[in-house]
Amino acid sequence: MKVLVAVKRVIDYNVKVRVKADQSDVDLANVKMAMNPFCEIAVEQAVRLKEAGQADEIVVVSIGSKSCDEQLRTALALGADRAIRVDTEDGPDSLSVAKLLAEVVKKEQPGLIILGKQAIDSDNNQTGQMLAALLDYPQGTFAFAMELTDGRVNVTREIDGGLQTVDLQLPAIVTTDLRLNEPRYASLPNIMKAKRKPLDVLTPDELGVSVAGKVKLLKVEPPAERQAGIKVGSVDELVDKLKNEAKVI
Ligand code: AMP
Repeated sequence: MKVLVAVKRVIDYNVKVRVKADQSDVDLANVKMAMNPFCEIAVEQAVRLKEAGQADEIVVVSIGSKSCDEQLRTALALGADRAIRVDTEDGPDSLSVAKLLAEVVKKEQPGLIILGKQAIDSDNNQTGQMLAALLDYPQGTFAFAMELTDGRVNVTREIDGGLQTVDLQLPAIVTTDLRLNEPRYASLPNIMKAKRKPLDVLTPDELGVSVAGKVKLLKVEPPAERQAGIKVGSVDELVDKLKNEAKVI
């Protein structure tokens, strides 16, 4: 079975995000970029399926500019066999990404498609769901565990206050939650080997998709600055401040 994994290049989760002076977007100048953490979990899951003999090919796909090749090479170093980049300006909206992924799926015919549950830059949490709707495939979102059986996948989902297990007929879409697995690091020999693995570039035109997005980013604002806290010397002082300064008790 072929597994297709969607991988997004995002700002590294360790970076303190800065907003551009004109508030038009997040400032990405000289900022470290990385693979979206939920996509790392998706790649790891695909690699584990291959290691268990349940998958025979892993294709990773990214939608964006040439800079995304860096994250695709990382995915290849982690164990993917082949990469595809659909060449667009950075930041197409989710529906455009889902439409492009849907066309890649129609071309590649994977049995299973794994995405992150959300990208940590825009926190949209919608691409997997949109892709499932476009393809009319069953979806198991927020996967905490998954098990492949004959032509089906059992996905245990993290939902408010517990877990829910769904049984999906393949081909299906799974989006990964944090506890699905712990991704491995790429070894140096595998990083070297990844340089020789195939990375194909397609255009939206070749896929017959228009990426003229319907969502326009109007403004980005940083969270309000928090005032520095203080240390109090005793419980009495704390109670006094809560009563007379903060006036909350
Ligand atoms: P989002 O719906 O934007 O929060 O993203 C959820 C998931 O969709 C990500 O973890 C990726 O697996 C996939 N995805 C979103 N944008 C892209 C992109 N530009 N290229 C490849 N995959 C993407």
